[in-house]
Amino acid sequence: MASLSTLYGRLQDDEHPAMDRLRRDAQGQFVPGVGPVPARVMFLGEAPGAAETRNGRPFCGPAGKVLNEWCQIADISRADCFVTNSVKYQPVNSRGDNRKPWKSELEVHTKYLAAETVLVRPQWIVALGSTALTMLWLDLLGDAPKISDVHGREIPITGRYRAARIFALYHPAAVLHNEDLVDVARADAQRLGDTLRSTVDA
Ligand code: URA
Repeated sequence: MASLSTLYGRLQDDEHPAMDRLRRDAQGQFVPGVGPVPARVMFLGEAPGAAETRNGRPFCGPAGKVLNEWCQIADISRADCFVTNSVKYQPVNSRGDNRKPWKSELEVHTKYLAAETVLVRPQWIVALGSTALTMLWLDLLGDAPKISDVHGREIPITGRYRAARIFALYHPAAVLHNEDLVDVARADAQRLGDTLRSTVDA
């Protein structure tokens, strides 16, 4: 695949029924990954929400503010990172509210995330929450690790993403729903920063 724009064009033309339905429900509002190519760090979220769908950019709403705060704590520049989602359209329920992506929607996005990763060549993929972990583990036998077990540290991975190192953080929206996670997640962000600095040449 020559470029991200070619890749995203293919995704938007993909007529797989799961992609078609997701696209129809999201009224065609595609949200691409954003950031430099290549990038040392790729943040991988779940799927765009309403703000992202309106603006066409990942993590630009309330969850994005949390991600910005974590980047500050980690002392990394978000502008130097590639920020993307497992699913590129907002999954909505029959009332038009956000819902979690279905497994079929993750599956239909797998080859696109794999190709995105080949183009971006991240040294680190920061998995934001359980859906991102599920996505990275989709092709492997066995379940993805639970975010509550692995947050704030590197997790070994085999399979198609093994060229990158994986670091797990809670999903930024999790701290908006659960105050108990605020300090834990900030400490995790600090550890992310320390880990990135200690592996600059690794
Ligand atoms: N949540 C996500 O997982 N991604 C976004 O882009 C916004 C909210």
